Amino acid sequence: MSVSIEVDELTEPQLSVRQLHVAYGGIQAVKNLNLDLYAGELVSLIGANGAGKTTTLKAICGLLAPQSGEVRFNGHPIAGQGPWALVEQGLVMVPEGRGIFARMSIDENLRMGCYLRKDKDIESDIDTVYRRFPRLKERHRQLAGTLSGGEQQLLAMGRALLAKPRLLLLDEPTMGLAPIMVDQIFEVVREVSSMGVTVLLVEQNALRALEMADRAYVLDSGELVLSGPAKELLDNPQVQAAYLGA
Ligand code: ATP
Repeated sequence: MSVSIEVDELTEPQLSVRQLHVAYGGIQAVKNLNLDLYAGELVSLIGANGAGKTTTLKAICGLLAPQSGEVRFNGHPIAGQGPWALVEQGLVMVPEGRGIFARMSIDENLRMGCYLRKDKDIESDIDTVYRRFPRLKERHRQLAGTLSGGEQQLLAMGRALLAKPRLLLLDEPTMGLAPIMVDQIFEVVREVSSMGVTVLLVEQNALRALEMADRAYVLDSGELVLSGPAKELLDNPQVQAAYLGA
């Protein structure tokens, strides 16, 4: 009996998306999407502009109501639960454009990440974020809107970590950043993943996204066209031609 429970825990996906359809009025943005993430995996979701990547993340985290289909997190359907309820359960998204509060300080932004927490470790966790991101510590009273794009992304990641995610959805975290900051953000993503947090990474930079992921899904015009181990997709001629500039 105990063996079968352990096996179930190992084999059940942490996130499971089944036959997901999402539309904006008459525009069908996501069609019949099936996707699984297992605890601790780093999975990339790649695709061209308008392929439906952001829409998928928004439907998973409760920002958009799907037309049909099911999203399960930790084995339970999460339809109709708002993003705040899902954050409380450990499903946290860092949106495209970062979603920082521009007129609040860095410190206040970080504290917003702890908004739903009731435990006693908040101050020490904020210290940990400041130790990891000394640039944020140096500027802790500065208004977040005056930070560079890369610093804002670090702040958004720090704030998300303070919500204690078990699954982190990252929407284009390196968009518009200088190469040195791109490297730093990917390093943080790798670190978060090595802490055991499951990561679903949406990236325009398909090469980097595939190089760092365990598995990946490829979306085209709202439909899943390929999926598999990231290393295999890197070698796939169809992926190379469409997304890797080969
Ligand atoms: P990008 O890489 O450019 O961010 P994406 O893969 O994230 O693209 P989505 O933003 O999910 O793609 O968009 C999927 C489709 O849905 C596109 O055709 C887009 O024009 C459409 N769409 C997205 N948001 C809206 C909206 N608020 N209203 C109407 N159509 C939308």
